[in-house]
Amino acid sequence: MVEADILAKAKQFLKKKIQPKSSLIDERNELPVKLFREIGEKGLLGFTVPKNYGGLGLNTLMYIEFMIELAKASPSLAASITTHTMVEHAILNYGLEEQKEKYLPAMVKGGLIGAFAMTEPGAGSDMNRISTSSSSIGDKFVLNGEKIFITNGTVADLFLMVARTGTDSKGRAELSVFIVERKTKGLDVKKKIELSGIRGAGVAHITLSNCQIPRENLLGEVGQGFRIAMDAITVGKISYAAIGIGIASQCLEKSIVYSIKRKQFGNPLIKFEGVGFPLAEIAVELEAARLLTFEAASKMGKGEKVNLYTSMAKLYSTKVAVKSALKAVQIHGAYGYSKESGIERLLRDAKGLEIGEGTSEIQKKIIIRELSKNPGKN
Ligand SMILES: Cc1cc2nc3c(=O)[nH]c(=O)nc-3n(C[C@H](O)[C@H](O)[C@H](O)COP(=O)(O)OP(=O)(O)OC[C@H]3O[C@@H](n4cnc5c(N)ncnc54)[C@H](O)[C@@H]3O)c2cc1C
Repeated sequence: MVEADILAKAKQFLKKKIQPKSSLIDERNELPVKLFREIGEKGLLGFTVPKNYGGLGLNTLMYIEFMIELAKASPSLAASITTHTMVEHAILNYGLEEQKEKYLPAMVKGGLIGAFAMTEPGAGSDMNRISTSSSSIGDKFVLNGEKIFITNGTVADLFLMVARTGTDSKGRAELSVFIVERKTKGLDVKKKIELSGIRGAGVAHITLSNCQIPRENLLGEVGQGFRIAMDAITVGKISYAAIGIGIASQCLEKSIVYSIKRKQFGNPLIKFEGVGFPLAEIAVELEAARLLTFEAASKMGKGEKVNLYTSMAKLYSTKVAVKSALKAVQIHGAYGYSKESGIERLLRDAKGLEIGEGTSEIQKKIIIRELSKNPGKN
């Protein structure tokens, strides 16, 4: 199948099967596992995974196009698939051949669901505070600790756990990543978290109590955890940028349709500059977010350094998503503020994008740090 056909078929499927369920997914606060697996069966969980591991072997641009469409149908499921893709990406780039063969084909088909567990009650933006410990005992590692706000956590079959394996010479945490299978004794879901938005992504609080992990489940090398995590988060950032675009375009489209149809004071709302002008601004900002995100994806596909661009894309797209959702609620009046409209949900979902995969403030820190590396040459 050519690339355009894959996207056209995916769009059809998302519109028919996922979009009508998006409000129910939010209401239930549950990851719809059956739908997740169906997406896998359609071949849509491995856009950038090479064909020899069952993926489509396509470039990042195609993945981004798909994520935008998925976010239009269900931002929650798009967040869930973001994490799943981050896990695939990390295994693909850092895994041993046996690990790739064991996990990737099943993940691509949706038979295995992945989660990426970094955040802890005491460690959010600051990874140096990670305290989940790992000690090496014989041919095993033993993990103890807690992970919180873990997307897919309620149902995941495998977790990439970021744990502390020591302290480096500068007193910073030495981190490593372990593939922890769900059946591991001592791994428990403490509770499902009631987030305000992104409620269909199975976000959970996980505890690890003397979890024995076979040595062959170390991902990469001991001490490589920071790099693996940052690399996975690059995928997370660009995916959240795409979700932001999906939400903003839904908000814009719905607002235009409604403000043409709805009449007050003898005119359609869109005729009032107070309604029409902000929509014109959002249309421009949405296009700018799209260009920025595709530029980042294009650089990523070419293997260039993208930290600056993925942070810019994430910061900007998610901001446009929140702005457009706030505007959409306002334009729809009381209807927009009601659950029935589905528009207040887009606002709740959009806000989560400014926090997950590195907050907006952290993106600004990265941007200024990257720009400071080459002063006068940017
Ligand atoms: C929808 C969603 C999904 C998520 N999924 C996952 C997941 O799958 N796996 C996972 O590990 N985690 C996940 N998280 C957690 C997420 O990674 C953290 O919320 C995020 O890293 C921020 O950490 P925190 O919430 O502890 O905030 P904190 O780090 O405590 O920050 C609180 C506030 O202070 C600001 N702040 C912190 N440090 C600085 C600074 N140096 N300069 C300026 N401002 C600063 C922050 O920007 C923020 O506004 C998810 C979160 C959300 C919302």
